[in-house]
Amino acid sequence: MGSSLLKQTPFLIKIKINLDCNYFGFFLKYLGDIVMSEENNQPVFLMGEDTERTQGDDAQKENMRAAKMVGDTVKSTLGPNGMDKMLTGSGEDIVVSNDGKTILNEMDIEHPAAKMVVEVAETQDEEVGDGTSTAVILAGELLKNAEDLLDKDIHPSVITEGFKRAILKINETLSELSKKIDEENTDLLKDVARTAMTGKGAEDFQDLLTNLSVKAVTTVADGGEVDLNDINIKTKQGSSVNDSELIEGIVLDKEKADPEMPSNITDANIALLDFEIDVQETETDAEIQIDDPKKMQQFLDRKEESLKEMVRKLKEADINVVISSEDIDDMATQYMVKNNLFAIENVSKSDLENISKAIKASKLSDLDEITQKDLGKAESVSMKMVSGEKLVFIEGCENPNALSVLIRGPTKHILDEIERTFNDAISVLATAIRDGEVLPGGGASEIQLALDLKELAASVEGKQQLAIEKFADSLETIPRVLSENAGHKAIDKSINLKTEHKKGNKNKGLNVKTGEITDMLENGVIEPVSVKEQALKSASEAGQMILRIDDVVSAKGG
Ligand code: ADP
Ligand code: MG
Repeated sequence: MGSSLLKQTPFLIKIKINLDCNYFGFFLKYLGDIVMSEENNQPVFLMGEDTERTQGDDAQKENMRAAKMVGDTVKSTLGPNGMDKMLTGSGEDIVVSNDGKTILNEMDIEHPAAKMVVEVAETQDEEVGDGTSTAVILAGELLKNAEDLLDKDIHPSVITEGFKRAILKINETLSELSKKIDEENTDLLKDVARTAMTGKGAEDFQDLLTNLSVKAVTTVADGGEVDLNDINIKTKQGSSVNDSELIEGIVLDKEKADPEMPSNITDANIALLDFEIDVQETETDAEIQIDDPKKMQQFLDRKEESLKEMVRKLKEADINVVISSEDIDDMATQYMVKNNLFAIENVSKSDLENISKAIKASKLSDLDEITQKDLGKAESVSMKMVSGEKLVFIEGCENPNALSVLIRGPTKHILDEIERTFNDAISVLATAIRDGEVLPGGGASEIQLALDLKELAASVEGKQQLAIEKFADSLETIPRVLSENAGHKAIDKSINLKTEHKKGNKNKGLNVKTGEITDMLENGVIEPVSVKEQALKSASEAGQMILRIDDVVSAKGG
């Protein structure tokens, strides 16, 4: 059993447990992968024949090397002047990206320790929407610096304890550096959006995207809470990006079910249908009786009557707009036209769900007992021409937070890029509003953290001190890489930056555009606190995890 289980697991990473495993470790060391069973003295095969195993220092070194390589790979992309990477995968597509997470995803990394670092990027992106390169670079640096300590025979557990202590201090410094922000501070929020978007492509449209994203997020924000599901993003190819707009309500890439229907309904009373308007129960009858003209006529009459009845029910409930996720029979559409109803058919399930939230209506599964409570209201439902395209707008919805962003662009490639950048921006803005705090960027926080850690290290006894110092050195990499990527003399900038911080100018960072060291809050280079906090925390955790591994077992062909 044991052996087959191990075979199924492509990579098994055993974390060294320093307590009572010596006995077990002894067997492993001296009997290779065979342990004698105590019961019948038969050998027990712990691992399959083609299992590979690396232990001790070799395992540690190899893991650290792999993790560092991941960090080094994304270094050149950090910051506004970071370079792009071109990746050609197994498919036809070529991906050009500046985003740490995208690059690592495309690289299809296999090594288990390197994969742990890639996971750092994924978590970072999911939790806070930014800071992936920072997290990955830092994880690599922490391991590079830890290697020096291992070479000096400092035990991994001393290093990990030092890292843990560093993180506690880091959280203190971050809250000292932070500045309050809320949904009313639109100017500050614009700085946050702009900082998050720099270097991410879509540069030409930064102002437009900054304004759109801040307007969208502040509209749906409510007392520090932001539900990004309230922002419905729609992309439509065929126009300039500058035609992108924000609609207070819902926009649908749909036309009315019949051109004769009214194009504009004010005081809309809306029914959402999740079923087909047709006469289904008699369909099979019709097939059987199709050769009997009399019965056929009877069927058609019955169908007409029942469709009329359906439309009558809608009218009786004062409904003037019908939005259905299914087909509406042509005959029913004709009665709707006669009754001045506006209808849209075959709306996607997800659109129907979004509309239901926006107008606070239930999705009906039949028309038998419609109550006003099931219906939704909007100030208007109208069909408009937007840059040559017909779209349906539902505006002035019952839920004032319902919002759509219509992204336009001439090609699919541009649309995708704009959509991705917009998504990044709203996600970072939501993080900033939820945090209620922001930090100076451009390496300002990293330098201050490094100085504070050096100070802490000086007060710590024993070899842990060295680990905390190494953490500080690792943090200094971030401003150094930022300036290197911008073509500045990294060493000079780092020294000047440290001097400023020692003088108490805690918000000073490197403005990579000018090469000057300035107050980042005044310069508008601003990041949410938890982007940095999460990046440092997960980099440190991944580093610790990799440091603790001293045995790598990989079952081939798993
Ligand atoms: P990440 O994936 O870590 O977010 P980015 O490539 O987005 O990586 O770079 C983020 C870093 O760039 C942050 O440290 C941020 O403070 C810095 N940054 C952004 N804009 C500027 C700027 N105008 N000047 C200096 N640093 C900047
Ligand atoms: Mg970023």
